[in-house]
Amino acid sequence: MQISELKEIGPKTAKIFESSKIFTTDDLICYYPFRYDVIKRSNIEELLDNDKIIIDGLVETRASVFFFNKKMNKMTFKFNTGKYLLNVSIFNRGYLKSKIVPGVVLTLIGKFDKKHNTIIASEIRFSCLKNIPTIEPIYHQIGGITSKEISTYINRINDFNVVEYIPEYLKEKYKLIDKKEAILKIHNPKNYNELKEALAYLKYEELFLFMLKMNSLKLNKKNKIGLKRNVDYNKVLEFINKLPFKLTVDQQKCVDNIFNDLNSETRMNRLVQGDVGSGKTIVAIIALYINYLSGYQGALMAPTEVLSYQHLSNLKNIFKNYNINIEVLTGSLKQKEKKDIYKRLQNKEIDIIIGTHALFSDEVTYNNLGLVITDEQHRFGVNQRSNLKNKGITPDILYLSATPIPRTYALTIYGDMDVSSIKTMPSGRKEIITMLKKNSEIKDVLKLMYEEIKLKHQIYVISPLIEESDKIDLEKIKELEDKMNSAFGKICKIGVMHGKMTKEEKDKVMDEFKNGDTKILISTTVIEVGVDVKNATMIVIFDSYRFGLSQLHQLRGRVGRNDIQSYCILISDKDKTRLDVMTKTCDGFKISEEDFKLRGSGDIFGVRQSGDMNFKIADFKTDYNILLRAREDTLDILNNSLDNYPNLVKILNDSCNLD
Ligand code: ADP
Ligand code: MG
Repeated sequence: MQISELKEIGPKTAKIFESSKIFTTDDLICYYPFRYDVIKRSNIEELLDNDKIIIDGLVETRASVFFFNKKMNKMTFKFNTGKYLLNVSIFNRGYLKSKIVPGVVLTLIGKFDKKHNTIIASEIRFSCLKNIPTIEPIYHQIGGITSKEISTYINRINDFNVVEYIPEYLKEKYKLIDKKEAILKIHNPKNYNELKEALAYLKYEELFLFMLKMNSLKLNKKNKIGLKRNVDYNKVLEFINKLPFKLTVDQQKCVDNIFNDLNSETRMNRLVQGDVGSGKTIVAIIALYINYLSGYQGALMAPTEVLSYQHLSNLKNIFKNYNINIEVLTGSLKQKEKKDIYKRLQNKEIDIIIGTHALFSDEVTYNNLGLVITDEQHRFGVNQRSNLKNKGITPDILYLSATPIPRTYALTIYGDMDVSSIKTMPSGRKEIITMLKKNSEIKDVLKLMYEEIKLKHQIYVISPLIEESDKIDLEKIKELEDKMNSAFGKICKIGVMHGKMTKEEKDKVMDEFKNGDTKILISTTVIEVGVDVKNATMIVIFDSYRFGLSQLHQLRGRVGRNDIQSYCILISDKDKTRLDVMTKTCDGFKISEEDFKLRGSGDIFGVRQSGDMNFKIADFKTDYNILLRAREDTLDILNNSLDNYPNLVKILNDSCNLD
């Protein structure tokens, strides 16, 4: 059923859903909550005046409604909790009057006016689950459609279709419920147990399908045959010697690994892992140069447009004395510009193309793609990895990632991938000094900022993204802008950047910051990955408790990019213990471990962090054991019985493989 056929979904709402790729009710029902609120019943004896109250009971008297005017009314009735008789008053629910009759079971949510023995209710619920905590699903907003509305729409879906992928014997082995049941329970769990059952099914399914694809890639022999090249190492050295800095020992090792991979007949499938600021970009650039020397086109994929354009200016600069054609392709280019690039890629008028995953959309045909590099690999969803499709030949593959993936994990996920690490930072770097401040200490923070501005340094100011609402995000940004303007507006220019801006707007803001016109850049986390402005020496992160430690580490990596002392100021009124980890270490590996420890492994209600692997419901770390099981199970199926499962054959054929 199309989403627009659902009761009360008008064309406007349907459009919003469609822009998030939710077209049918079957799509909508697979939009899962990202966390749950647990609503516990209040104990009247323990409540103080004005406390929040949630309580079950029976309506004792009919409701009476008093109208203040056309728009305002107040309804009152008496309510029996079994132990107490309470007054209830609630505003603007006059339309419920006919339903409030003696004997009806209700759950009331509101405030308790102890003196008057009255519940000032804000919400009346007719479905009451006595004695059990009610678990309320919370969904990420979709373009202004609230979590509550999404929940309401989902509950209106009477019937839906599912495809069961998991073979019956595995469902029995792990005592999994049916998929349909799991989906119903993930939206409306009646208790923890139901939620656990739902999660058990859906997590296993997600990891099962993921590992099925991964293992199928791995088992595919065709995947291993690479391009033949014959590049002269001296030419590469010549290029390296002309760089503005000397490579670190680890960078040089990576380059050598890559050179050997590219020159061998086996297809390269390598991950370069190195902490933020360790200098992965230059390694990628050298790889692109080697690839260019052997006569092939190269592609560099980045997770954001901002980063794509940064790479462009970086590459143009480094290759300025070479006759290499470099372009950018992102989703927000005009149709005409895109078409032009498609044509030139096909005719090999472009040697190196940089861009977001638009690089691998259906319309793109390469002339002879020899190398694909994915920067900030961990930022791409797992499925995008397989979206790098065959464009006629079998390109070598290189991934760059700052997320330290322990080797065992890497082997599981990436299979036969080779790993090179950059462990040491370029010389001369000073450890970033990190401080934790409360909102009440904002004056100190402004003073520290002022010191940096006096030194003609630049500053990032980060406002966290509140995932549930775009509107609040923009308001927060505005608030910060006002704050900064009143403190520094007279002495320097301040830039603002957020995800809702167009590419041109973002470019402009970024350029002004890069060339030093603006001294302060206020931004949401669109700035999080990869951005490199050497003169920026301070980053101030508001409400930093909203971020995971690894994400804070990425943000902090925006400064300390040369030998000037840099600072990171975390502002937060809560979560001191966790955030203190940041003040104690700058080691990304330690931080990610700490992150993992602090979040605990059984944290089913936790907000999943961005970064890592973008699974919809499973968590790469906490569900690692499920992942291991899924790996064994899918290997077994691929090796022995795939033909018995047409659904699995189909899903493998549909997913675009790398070969
Ligand atoms: P990341 O690994 O986080 O992507 P970048 O590649 O952006 O880091 O490098 C961070 C900064 O360090 C850049 O400004 C880059 O020019 C500089 N850099 C990289 N390698 C070296 C080196 N060997 N010596 C000095 N500076 C370097
Ligand atoms: Mg980078």
